Amino acid sequence: MNNIILIKYGELTLKKGNIKYFIDCLYKNINHKLKGLTVNIIKDNRRMFVEYQAKDQTTIIDILKHIAGIYSFVICYKVASDLEKIKTEALNLVSKEKFNTFKVETKRSDKTFKYNSNEISRMVGSYILKNIANIKVDVHHPELLLNIEVRKDYTYLYTNEIKGLGGYPVGIQGKGMLMLSGGIDSPVAGFLALKKGIKLECIYFESIPHTSIEARNKVINLIKKMTKFTNEINLHIIPFTKMQETIYQHVDPKYMITIMRRMMYRITELLAKKNNCLVIVNGESIGQVASQTLSSMAVINEVTNMPIIRPLSCMDKIDIIDIAKKIATYDISILPFQDCCTVFVPKHPVTNPKLEKAILMEKTFNYEDLIKECLDNVITIKITDIEQDNLHNLL
Ligand code: ATP
Ligand code: MG
Repeated sequence: MNNIILIKYGELTLKKGNIKYFIDCLYKNINHKLKGLTVNIIKDNRRMFVEYQAKDQTTIIDILKHIAGIYSFVICYKVASDLEKIKTEALNLVSKEKFNTFKVETKRSDKTFKYNSNEISRMVGSYILKNIANIKVDVHHPELLLNIEVRKDYTYLYTNEIKGLGGYPVGIQGKGMLMLSGGIDSPVAGFLALKKGIKLECIYFESIPHTSIEARNKVINLIKKMTKFTNEINLHIIPFTKMQETIYQHVDPKYMITIMRRMMYRITELLAKKNNCLVIVNGESIGQVASQTLSSMAVINEVTNMPIIRPLSCMDKIDIIDIAKKIATYDISILPFQDCCTVFVPKHPVTNPKLEKAILMEKTFNYEDLIKECLDNVITIKITDIEQDNLHNLL
């Protein structure tokens, strides 16, 4: 196989101490996603190479674009480490491109090679100049950059870089419990957490019959989209009807959302611990709704000591929507099925709740039993990436 993609790690290279662990994790993730295709993956401390069959190129490029921890990748050409062969392939490669100015940049990891990096760049550069009319070298702002990496047996040549997702390989940071509603925000929060290496489980609170089965399917479909960035996600569905109805009966309408969210946090923490998650992740964004003012967040957050990652906390809605569109969750999120937060919304929820008041209201019903009941009746579904990513192999 002479078709090769060279993968650059980006942020990984910054973490010197743990580099091996990072690379192994990324390798495992890439290997998983390319399962079923005929490929050969080679890793070293700075780069990874994927050898593949020409017919799979488009598929592989699409898959790699969705894998966190890849900074960029390039389609490259492999020749024996021999100056004449390098020159010929370099000319062949740049002849396919349109440009007026260019630059050759060489990295030589094989220090026994006869020429040093500068000499190689210069010799290849003049060979190109001699053979193509009306072009110039521009070392500062070249229109075309030809990279040459000389290794022991083989030399790799490449031009255009394809940008990857960046971030860290999923799983490197342990697990988080994502509070996933059917809205626009939480899947985006989940994606950003995955991109930082957090493996996810999801918790979804549903209030059947006040919420529909379509709302649940919406959440499942959102997770299917998210598995493009990871291998599998467990969805935990919490039957929340009795808790919500009890809150509705006992609590001042103004405080209903505050108390409901305190209960959600309590349940999420317990479920997170049970599933070895180190953090909670959610889609809260400062100021978006009454429950997301700073004072609301403080009163709600008071029930748990678990760290809460809020990737969207300081983002504007318009930028969140932008990401939702890019990760293909937006069209699902805007489907009009009510979720449990929208069913029992009071007209005037408090924006500046008082902790003492919230605690007093919680004393009016036995929420501990209700929490236990929620957890005892959780339904867990494993959602994998198999169908969508490897469909092309099964057909
Ligand atoms: P989203 O668009 O993600 O629904 P939102 O702006 O509508 O968010 P809220 O409804 O106040 O805001 O919810 C804030 C966060 O709480 C959500 O982003 C999500 O992480 C979590 N959340 C809300 N409802 C649920 C639910 N039914 N199940 C699980 N988590 C939920
Ligand atoms: Mg919502």
